[in-house]
Parts: sequence; C-alpha cells; structure tokens
Amino acid sequence: MTKIAETILDFALPERCPACGDISSDGNNFCAMCWPKIRFLNPPWCTGCASPFEYEQAQGVLCADCLSTPPQHDGIRAAVAYDTTSRQIALRLKYGGKIGLAKLIARHLVRHLPHERSDIIVTPVPLHWTRLWSRSFNQSALIGRELARLGDMEYCADLLKRTRRTPSMRGLSSKERRKVVGSAFIANPKHMPQIAGARILLVDDVLTTGATSNGCIKALKKSGASWVQLFCWARVVRGETVSETITDTLPT
Ligand SMILES: [Zn+2]
Ligand SMILES: [Zn+2]
Repeated sequence: MTKIAETILDFALPERCPACGDISSDGNNFCAMCWPKIRFLNPPWCTGCASPFEYEQAQGVLCADCLSTPPQHDGIRAAVAYDTTSRQIALRLKYGGKIGLAKLIARHLVRHLPHERSDIIVTPVPLHWTRLWSRSFNQSALIGRELARLGDMEYCADLLKRTRRTPSMRGLSSKERRKVVGSAFIANPKHMPQIAGARILLVDDVLTTGATSNGCIKALKKSGASWVQLFCWARVVRGETVSETITDTLPT
C-alpha cells in the first residue's frame, strides 16, 4: 500500500483498543483503561517453563516442577499472563477476524526471541483442515509468520500436521486432555529432512493446559528436532486458576 493510501485509511478507520474495542487515541495501542490491566511477562522466571519467580534468581534456575519433571520443550515464552483481558484479544483474533492483532502480538513477542536465531524455523500449531476451511485462517500461523518476518527467521506453515479433529474437552481432566490431544499431531512427512536436527520455534495463541503444545513438541522431537521453544501470546500463570468457562470457549 502506498503511504498516501495508508494515511487515508488511518484517517478513515479510527484505531481501536485491541482489548475492549473502544476507540483509542493512542493509535494501535491499548486504551488508558486497558493498558494497566495488561500483565506483561518478564524475567525473573524459570529457565524451563518461564513461570514467573517472585524474586530475582541466578541465571538458569529451574522451578520445582521443571526440576521434578523435566519438560519436553526447551522453554516457553509468552507476552502476557492469561486473564480476561488477554483472552479477549485472543478471541478477537480467532473469531473476530481482527487479523491486525496478529501483528500486534508478534511485536510484543520479539523481545523474547533468542539472540542467536539465524538457524531457527518458525512453525504454528496447525488447525485441522476442516477448521481451517470454516474459519479461513489459522490465528497461530498469522502470529508465526509475522514473528518470523520481524525476527528475520525462516517460516514454514506446515512442519506439523493435525491428523484428526480434537473432540470437545469439556469436563476432562488435564491428564485426559493430554491423552486426547497428544496423539493428534504428527511431523509432516514431506518436511522430515528439514526437521531432523533443527531448532524450531512453535507458535500458539494461548497456553492453558499445555496439552496441545505438548502434543506438537513431542511430534517434533520424535522426528529429530534438537530444540523446540514455544512462543504464545498469553499463558496461564501457575497458581492462578482459570475457570472452566474460560478454557471451554477456547477450543484447540
Ligand atoms: Zn481498551
Ligand atoms: Zn519451570
């Protein structure tokens, strides 16, 4: 788009707050009401799962959970804590067709990218093709592509494939969810040579139970990926309860 066209468009469409949708004077940013409610995540946090620590710790310290059960992944990076406000943004992107939000989310994730990233391949958590067909886009793919562009990394839309639709997980325990979702992903056979030994950055919109991302990470590691880090917009912070109604409205 030309600069003039962009300016006209900016003028014609007032910027709206990504959280509440109210017109925001501060172009493309959160309104004064929502800004203080956004909880950006930053170190100090666990080197493994990036759960926030209350106090400054030495570099490379793991939380008790990661020490007792070493995670499959090589780190989780989320821009914000998962709550009513950040969930609203995820839902707007997912169902409201607010594709510009993917760019905003990617911008907030750039600061968490590893310094050394020239060999990293970025790939999204895939949707089942029937969902992709009905919704016409994969929100995680939009975030991933933009993040790859901003961080100057390779992007591959389909390193992973979803072999079946995930049934409703209402009322299932986290262990049951893991079982249902865990086997729904495989590494894409056509990209096997690319995956072997690769460093991969997996992108999802939100991290709640971890069942979906774990299934993806397991599939990538099984196919020889040497390092897989998960990047997402919002994550549930340990110790904070997320009501069933919230997770239920976010089918994976
Ligand atoms: Zn707002
Ligand atoms: Zn941890």
